[in-house]
Amino acid sequence: DCLSVVHSALNDFSKSRTYSDSVNDELLFLMERVKTIESESEHTKKLLEEERRKATHDSLTELPNREAYNERAYAELQRFKRYGRPLTLAVCDIDYFKRVNDTYGHQAGDKVLKLISSVVASRLRSVDFVGRYGGEEFVILMPETDADTAYGVLDKIRATIAKTPFRFKDDPIQITLSFGLASFQENDTTDDAFTRADKALYGAKDAGRNQCLIAKNDNE
Ligand code: GH3
Ligand code: MG
Ligand code: MG
Repeated sequence: DCLSVVHSALNDFSKSRTYSDSVNDELLFLMERVKTIESESEHTKKLLEEERRKATHDSLTELPNREAYNERAYAELQRFKRYGRPLTLAVCDIDYFKRVNDTYGHQAGDKVLKLISSVVASRLRSVDFVGRYGGEEFVILMPETDADTAYGVLDKIRATIAKTPFRFKDDPIQITLSFGLASFQENDTTDDAFTRADKALYGAKDAGRNQCLIAKNDNE
């Protein structure tokens, strides 16, 4: 970067000629100064990155938070409008999560939340987005993906979670998830798609939980 250029220029300059002691001292002083500024700016950069991470991520699950979701949803909506490629949004909610807390305690609940988060995140593609929307609810954005394809991916994740018992102090805890999916329609805002997905999620809950449901679009 620019500071290291200054630093090496000063270095070359000091080597290329011999100077009186006072000029040499001055050069050495300047080189030290540049080095200090360099390491300070590196430190500041790290602090800024850390602050940015804190502002956009949830500390329990380490997933992007709602702020980050809002930003990403807006960006994906712009791409959807511009290129007309499919975009699917899903809302996911842990079934009967209150029971987990009530039966095993809040710590067990936290552990389950972390595990579910990492399983879901690791099974999505890198272009997909998953964030913690709140409590035990997650929001997923799948660019370039229609609702049926998204269903295939998410239902596999659902099935995997359903058949993987989480262990808490030797007790196997069975966790299931419900999903509501909605593909973006022309003129949708991000809230419009979210609302349809959320309604579909309630439908999945009503129909017995541990399932994915696609919201009907206007033309269906
Ligand atoms: P449903 O199948 O209808 O979704 O039932 P539910 O019990 O999951 O739904 P409800 O909304 O009644 O309860 C959600 C629970 O999630 C209640 C709350 O204590 C728990 N929860 C939310 N955030 C956290 C968290 O960060 N840690 C833990 N341990 N529990 C949480
Ligand atoms: Mg909930
Ligand atoms: Mg729930």
